[in-house]
This record gives sequence, structure tokens and C-alpha cells, in this order.
Amino acid sequence: MESYEALRERVAVACRVLAVTGLVEHILGHVSARTGERTLLVRGRGPGERGLAFTVVDDVQEVDLDGKGETPPEWSAPSELPIHAEVLRARPEVTAVVHAHPPAVVAASAAGLPWLPLVGSYDIPAARLAHDGIPVWPRSALIRRRDLAEQMVASLGDRPVVVLRGHGLVAVGTGDPRQAVAEAVTRALAVDALARTTLAVAATGAPLRPIPDDDIAELPDLGPAFNVSAMWRHLAARAEHEGPGTPVRP
Ligand SMILES: [Zn+2]
Repeated sequence: MESYEALRERVAVACRVLAVTGLVEHILGHVSARTGERTLLVRGRGPGERGLAFTVVDDVQEVDLDGKGETPPEWSAPSELPIHAEVLRARPEVTAVVHAHPPAVVAASAAGLPWLPLVGSYDIPAARLAHDGIPVWPRSALIRRRDLAEQMVASLGDRPVVVLRGHGLVAVGTGDPRQAVAEAVTRALAVDALARTTLAVAATGAPLRPIPDDDIAELPDLGPAFNVSAMWRHLAARAEHEGPGTPVRP
């Protein structure tokens, strides 16, 4: 029970992190964490919905892959729950899913700009993601049906992120669900950073030039203790200090 509540809190804080880092605006976007083969904790909406920045643990409830669960009567799962459900169904190793609408990702995808490793040591996770390939789901539909989610999952394949053209992104994490939530958030941030750099370079009129493979090969994997755990401590602290100042667990 203790770890269940800790996971609920992690999902709630992740929603606040997405808000303070600008990856979500207002009331759109959600985070989930796997609790079983067919169950997940997901950020939904209650009657007092105030947006991602003000997420509290009561916004995070447990449902099954069909959206059913013993949830409060006034709470509803997100309409795009199939994003989370179909990723978890198709990828047993995935234990967390982030869906956000980062404005830079939306703009870069709307412009049809390629996802290239334009940077190296500036942002090693972003460089590696781009070098290994960031898939794009070419549709902009609201993913509120299973068949649409299955198409999106096909584009995701076995990758950690997929860009949704004119919509946003989906990022996943694996392993311990609390760590996986942090991992999925940091991956979403890496795509956002790459999108902002891509837009900035494109705006100069200069060509988009990937860094050489030799330089990619020189980029060390700094590991999850740095890329995820340390980054998460920073992000959670920012959410606390730049956030609404109200507790996640009132
Ligand atoms: Zn969406």
C-alpha cells in the first residue's frame, strides 16, 4: 500500500513537472504507471479540474485497460486513455507512459522537420534518441479509440518515444514503475529540447545538419543515476518551488 501511494504521488508530481517545464499547457496531457498486467494508475479529471499544474493525488486513479475500475463517481479517465492502455497491452516491459502536447514538438512536426541529432554534448539523451530514430505517427487524430491507438503503437514500435504530428508526443519508461515515470518524463523533455533546437536552427534558414557519427560515438551513456534519478530530483524540486505552492496530497 505504501508503494502504491508513493506511485500515485509520483504520477501526480510528474503531471506538475510537465506543467512547470512547459510540456503541457492548461488542462491537456496525462501520465500513467502500470500496477499490474491489466491495470494502471492514470491522471484523469474530477469535478474540480484545475489543470496539470495543480494535480493532486486524487486526480490519479486505478483503472484496467478498458478504463473500468472502482473510481470515485465524479472522476473520469482521460478520453485518450487508449494511448496508455494500448502501449501497456503491446509492450509488457513498459511500466509508465507520458502523453503531452509540447508546443515546440507540435510546431516542428507540423512543419515536417526531420528529427536529427543536431546536438551532441549539449543534450546527450536527446542526441542518442535522435540518432537511434524518433518515429512519427503521421495522424493528428484524438486517440480516443483502440484502433487509433493501435496505429500509434505500431509507429512507436520498440522505441521509447513517438511524435504525434500536429498533436504532441508519447514517451514510455520501463522497470520499476516509479523510476519509469521519471524516465518517461526525461525522455519527453529530451524530445522537447530537440524540437526547440530544430526550430531555432530552421528559423535561421541554415540547413539541418546532424552531428557526425564519430561525435555520437564519443558521447558517453551517463546512466540512469544521472540521466533519470538526478534529473528527477531537479524536476521535482522545480515543480515544488515553481509550482502552485499547494501540496500534492492535501
Ligand atoms: Zn493528446
